[in-house]
Amino acid sequence: MSSLFPTYQRWELSAKSGKGATLKDTNGATYLDFVGGIAVCNLGHCHPKVIEALTTQAESLWHVSNLFQIEGQEQAAAMLAEQSSGDYVFFCNSGTEANEAAIKLARKHSGKNHIISLKNSFHGRTLGSMAATGQSKIHEGFGTMLQSFSYATFNDIESVKEQISADTAAIMIEVVQGEGGVRIIEPEFAQQLQALCKEYHILLIVDEVQTGIGRTGKPFGYQHFDLSPDIITVAKGLGNGFPVGAMIGKDFLQPAFQPGSHGSTFGGNPLAMAVVKAVLETVFEDQFLQQVQEKAEVFQTYLHQSLQGKKSVKDIRILGLMAGIECHEPVAEFITQARERGLLVLQAGPNVIRLLPPLVVTNEELKQAADILAQVVDQKTAAV
Ligand SMILES: *Cc1c(COP(=O)(O)O)cnc(C)c1O
Repeated sequence: MSSLFPTYQRWELSAKSGKGATLKDTNGATYLDFVGGIAVCNLGHCHPKVIEALTTQAESLWHVSNLFQIEGQEQAAAMLAEQSSGDYVFFCNSGTEANEAAIKLARKHSGKNHIISLKNSFHGRTLGSMAATGQSKIHEGFGTMLQSFSYATFNDIESVKEQISADTAAIMIEVVQGEGGVRIIEPEFAQQLQALCKEYHILLIVDEVQTGIGRTGKPFGYQHFDLSPDIITVAKGLGNGFPVGAMIGKDFLQPAFQPGSHGSTFGGNPLAMAVVKAVLETVFEDQFLQQVQEKAEVFQTYLHQSLQGKKSVKDIRILGLMAGIECHEPVAEFITQARERGLLVLQAGPNVIRLLPPLVVTNEELKQAADILAQVVDQKTAAV
């Protein structure tokens, strides 16, 4: 019997070790890991540079209070600010906390309460970020939600306009809805949102928890859509498996977060910052991101070759190394069969297979994955 709250539908898989895109389980089986801890291990498992940074830091200093100067935090913040539209950074420990900080900053800066987010979005599990999440299944059973969130339709600018009021502080979006089915924002909608924000003096918050840190072939996903968000949140890929998150904001927001406004005991401690620096130094290199874009094109070609024309396949969506295969039917069975053939992939909603290979994946591994998917999609298991 397990002593854990059964909050997860766990797979029949217990991982023992990993290297790059490969994962080994406790029975000695080897898998191609296109789950990556849910878009976390962007540099693959046990990246040497990250190991080196973590172990070196572990021998000198793990944690000090945020009342102290933390050199690593200054450096990591400068790297995030340099690559983004933002200027100042607040470090925390997860995506949900980064979004919580964003919600608080938007409210405090504007003196307003209302935030528009989008249907089928996912922003986290705390009371604030859960309320921001546009999915009733996430809210169910938890009583009254934090007030003043409303949900507009993805890629429908009229539905956003209708919800704007004098109390609207911000619009919060993902440029690719990850949990919501790998749905990519339309460039026109993105531009219309930016214009609305400008016209009504509303903050634009982009949740880059899943799309950020190189996942889409650019430092941040919004950079594909020519946006200039006021607030950006990141987490998942930021620590490559070390729990860390960050909220990045433009300079005009700085006065709203002063000593005592917000805080975190663990957020941005030296151990986390050593890892973040190693990750960012690797991912934010032009050549590295160029390679990610090349791999993404190769992957797209393989996926189309393997899956286009399959009866079950409705749509193939890809931005960088974030791909979704929407099927006409539930995909749970395909995912189980892929696992039995050595490929780990995720579901996003009932009908979408989500693929999140590490950014260090090889073209050969991408081909293997596409081949396995071709074997399992359209295969119906015999009725039992
Ligand atoms: C995973 C995710 C979150 C929540 O991050 P946690 O680290 O699990 O709290 C928030 N937003 C998006 C877009 C995510 O994908």
